[in-house]
Amino acid sequence: QAKERGQNHYQFFSEQLQRDVETRLVREQAVRQVVADETLWLAYQPQIRASDGQAVGVEALLRWPTDTIPVLSPADFIPVMEDVGLIERVGYWVMKQAAQMAVATEQELGITLRMAVNVSMRQLYDPGLFDQIAGVLESTGLPPGNFEVELTESSIMADLERTCETLRRLRELGVSIAIDDFGTGYSSLSYLRKLPVDVLKIDRSFVMEIGSNRQTEAIIENLLGLSRALGLRVVAEGVENDEQQAFLRGIGCDYLQGFHIGRPVELSRFHGWLRSAGREGDE
Ligand code: C2E
Ligand code: MG
Ligand code: MG
Ligand code: MG
Repeated sequence: QAKERGQNHYQFFSEQLQRDVETRLVREQAVRQVVADETLWLAYQPQIRASDGQAVGVEALLRWPTDTIPVLSPADFIPVMEDVGLIERVGYWVMKQAAQMAVATEQELGITLRMAVNVSMRQLYDPGLFDQIAGVLESTGLPPGNFEVELTESSIMADLERTCETLRRLRELGVSIAIDDFGTGYSSLSYLRKLPVDVLKIDRSFVMEIGSNRQTEAIIENLLGLSRALGLRVVAEGVENDEQQAFLRGIGCDYLQGFHIGRPVELSRFHGWLRSAGREGDE
């Protein structure tokens, strides 16, 4: 009996493993296909100045082609791209496309936005990253001051010496450096003082608890005080309602981003949003 149970147990694990491997292979294959087909696209999500609601920035977010099965979110396909070594190529395309978009927005609508792009750990440790960014800015004509690189704490901290060097050079060029999902990593606040960064993006998990968790509200307020002392700008991510927006504005958060402000949408819809909401402010 014990033997039988053992066998079932074994079988359960092996079937699970089999399914995982299959999912993995299907995803890898699908990722290679969309990269080869060049059918990935970018969605754009606005960032507004909290004080007056003016659109001042935009984050480019990678999107899977809408008609492609399996349907994958960035959380599914970006790790696969990292593993199979495609993220450098895709990441370069994202930066170029996003920079072009910011220039086109300025030309067509007369609205200047700071363009933020997500850069993954593998890109950060690619020795060619600085030259890639400098090249993209030069070829598109986007001023470096209108370009922002979003990195996670964990990718910066993985090899501080190497990343600091790259980040310093980027900042010297005029590019801003933002720490994405701030508060979810190791967050020893004291190291912030030494990092060459300009912007903290407070993670959505904190913003979510505004109105329901006083401790989280206190943490956010303290983070803002600290940021001000360090000369950092703060973006709140994942703003989903009026109450969160009012709280963040009240405590002096610089910029807001989230579904309540505007969802990530394709270029033409983003331009439509800019023509209406983006200029009027939030009230
Ligand atoms: P992220 O950089 O922190 O981007 C914010 C994510 O939160 C996006 O998810 C966005 O759609 C979502 N979001 C924005 N506002 C709200 C809100 O009010 N409520 C909720 N629930 N969600 C909100 P998305 O587009 O699925 O991207 C997930 C992650 O994938 C990103 O997190 C980023 O880490 C990564 N990613 C996306 N595009 C790229 C890219 O081009 N390159 C790299 N390396 N990573 C990317
Ligand atoms: Mg981001
Ligand atoms: Mg984030
Ligand atoms: Mg996030």
